[in-house]
Amino acid sequence: PAGEPTKPHETPPLTRHTPQQESQVSSIFSRDYASELPTAVRGEGVYLYDADGKAYLDGMGSAGVVGIGHGRTEIYQALAAAGDKVPFAYSAQFTTPWQEEFGKSILSVAPKGIESVYFVSGGSEANETALKLARQYHLERGDTQRQKIISRWQSYHGVTIATLSLSGRTSWRAPYTPYMLPVIHIAPPYEYRCAYCKDKGGCTLDCADELERAINLEGPETVSAFFAETIVGTTASGLVPRPDYYKRIREICDRYGILFVADEVLAGYGRTGRPFAIQDWDVVPDMITCGKAIGSGYAPLGAVLINDKITNFFRESRKRFVHGFTYSGHPTSCFIGQQVFNIMSKEGLFTRAAEIGKHLHARLNALQQRHACIGEVRGRGLYGGVEFVADRATRAPFPAEMNFTSRLVSGMKERGVIIGGGVPGANFGQGGDHIQITPPFIVSEAEIDILVDALDDTIGAIA
Ligand code: PLP
Repeated sequence: PAGEPTKPHETPPLTRHTPQQESQVSSIFSRDYASELPTAVRGEGVYLYDADGKAYLDGMGSAGVVGIGHGRTEIYQALAAAGDKVPFAYSAQFTTPWQEEFGKSILSVAPKGIESVYFVSGGSEANETALKLARQYHLERGDTQRQKIISRWQSYHGVTIATLSLSGRTSWRAPYTPYMLPVIHIAPPYEYRCAYCKDKGGCTLDCADELERAINLEGPETVSAFFAETIVGTTASGLVPRPDYYKRIREICDRYGILFVADEVLAGYGRTGRPFAIQDWDVVPDMITCGKAIGSGYAPLGAVLINDKITNFFRESRKRFVHGFTYSGHPTSCFIGQQVFNIMSKEGLFTRAAEIGKHLHARLNALQQRHACIGEVRGRGLYGGVEFVADRATRAPFPAEMNFTSRLVSGMKERGVIIGGGVPGANFGQGGDHIQITPPFIVSEAEIDILVDALDDTIGAIA
């Protein structure tokens, strides 16, 4: 979502400048009217070009989607060569070689214990699917009371009503309060602003233990699943939990028979230097939801990776998961997913972010020494997050009216660099302005330097 209200229930009006030409699309969605947006006409590597020939370094990887880089024409050449061998066939009636091949591929890099995959068209669909699959799994096993879902504040799981209900960004939920499902939210692992560890002189993992308290309050026999972004993205820019956090979460879920769903729509598929971010915690979730980089922007694609316990239950009991989008397992999307997978494998892009990400983080950490308004640099691999503060000692954020992020993001765009941004006050006033740097996995050190130099310059100009 692009429009970011500064306060719940309040949407800032879109100011119309002088559009050169009236656009018929997107005009109510974007921060600017579509007529005022540049028209992207070409992409190559980490760059996008507009109709006037201006180049933009895509430091956000187009919302964390583009992993293999723009303009990989070999993808479309492969599709043209396959031609009419990639028909559309409805997934309730047929499987296709494209779905089967890509299914095998994606499972080959998934954590051990992940056994099957269900393809959809994006991240929201993947989370919606996981939510329903969790419920059906319990129902079919006779555990009919298990219906409650627990997730975390400062999280983003999608735009549909169910996935927005999972999400914990209050300003995006507020207009739809009457439609929100009764999902229970607990604290995210947000060490920089943790209410628990403030007076304890260090992290005590109380935020993970809050899950157990919530389960006991609700009644363990009534809880179906716990959803968490492995690394919190959009709503807080790169919250990386402690090394023992997910072990604790896994233990708690196992103790009470609750399914653990890791949302890796943004953090997964190479972003952190591993095929899946959760592999750094050596924990296997019951389901992993993915999207974005698995299609790398060349096709709309999402997936739910499902563990052996759930898969085998459905297989052995011959139960059917009553679900299915018209485009589930779309053959062309799966074919393109396989081409993206081939490029990722051949060019070492599932792990490259671990190495090149060191340069990004070294440069961002150095930037923190230069600008007092940088409160924290965080993230992992090619996920860089920066949080800004008015006062480093108290960690007080800038007032929302200052529009710090918007000015930063626009200033960067004027300098030809695209980054993502989040505003303060979006979560009960918790958290400050923050930016998200998620370039394609092929980014070079020199391109990271261009990005961070532009950031240095823009912060200097507005701070
Ligand atoms: N989950 C996470 C962690 C995301 O970052 C996003 C999108 O930004 C989604 C889910 C929703 O994915 P989509 O926009 O493809 O529906």
